[in-house]
Amino acid sequence: MSILITGGAGYIGSHTVRYFTEKNEDIVVVDNLQNGHKDSVQIDHFYNIDIRDKDALQEVFINHNIEGVIHFAANSLVGESMSKPYDYYENNVYGMMCLLDVMKENNVKKIVFSSTAAVYGEPKQIPIMEINETNPTNPYGETKLAMEKMMKWFEQGYGTQYVSLRYFNAAGAHESGMIGEDHEPETHLMPLILQVALGVREQIAIFGSDYPTIDGTCVRDYIHVMDLAAAHYLALEYLRKENKSDVFNLGNGNGYSVKQVIDTARKVTNHPIPSVLKDRRSGDPAVLIASSEKAKTLLGWNPQHHSLEKMIADAWNWHQGNPEGYTK
Ligand code: UDP
Repeated sequence: MSILITGGAGYIGSHTVRYFTEKNEDIVVVDNLQNGHKDSVQIDHFYNIDIRDKDALQEVFINHNIEGVIHFAANSLVGESMSKPYDYYENNVYGMMCLLDVMKENNVKKIVFSSTAAVYGEPKQIPIMEINETNPTNPYGETKLAMEKMMKWFEQGYGTQYVSLRYFNAAGAHESGMIGEDHEPETHLMPLILQVALGVREQIAIFGSDYPTIDGTCVRDYIHVMDLAAAHYLALEYLRKENKSDVFNLGNGNGYSVKQVIDTARKVTNHPIPSVLKDRRSGDPAVLIASSEKAKTLLGWNPQHHSLEKMIADAWNWHQGNPEGYTK
């Protein structure tokens, strides 16, 4: 049987495809290439279709014997979601409705879902635990929470079981340097910093320097993309063995400020990486740090690449080899 990975040509999706292939899983990828890159997935069964096109999606389920779905396909930028909420509801929430409906029609009962720390909003306690209140401060987090709730009710109604993985800040790249992070336009901190080191940009803007943190800049919990990929595999194994749904945070439990990330990148790249202080970006909580004890205990997740240096070094390896990103 095959595993369908939606959004498998995106950043986390492509690393997960790679990880699952290394585990000898038979993979089918569906991606509309709105943000993904065909070159990031080297597999036989790739479909350039949109999950909102139910007929096309149904064809994929007919052509392949799908055991379960790893669902990445979504819009995922906090800032963009504030100015284009309709797009987020349409692609994320309606897309999920289409996918779950086609799964239901084909009697596919397992889904691993790409969720986010943004479902929590401004946390009341650090580290954040899965039982803490969810109160998103932007449409991105709101739509991901709506998608989680949709899965909960589909489980009640149709028996579709899910594992929802709430990631904190994905970073790094596959150690081979063959795949990495490339968004157009780029808005994420780490690739932007490395583009400065490459000479593609002149400086990095620091969004907000008056937060109640060690140096006034936002603190985030960075997690290596291959550790995230491994968690998706363990989540699928959990559904296979345990036959029950659950929600897990995925982070390292260590917080790094924007300034600390820039300083570490200066060391790794040996480049001065000029920075400039700017106003806060709307929708950004001051501190996001995960408790991932639940994933460690129940999934047996054991992140391998803890250090920020390692994440930046792997990302740097990819960026140096691909200064323009994937071939456009
Ligand atoms: N950030 C920044 N300058 C940038 C991009 C991001 O200071 O050019 C900050 C942002 O405000 C946040 C952190 O870096 O505090 C991580 O942002 P990113 O967009 O990478 O991930 P997010 O936390 O939104 O998922």
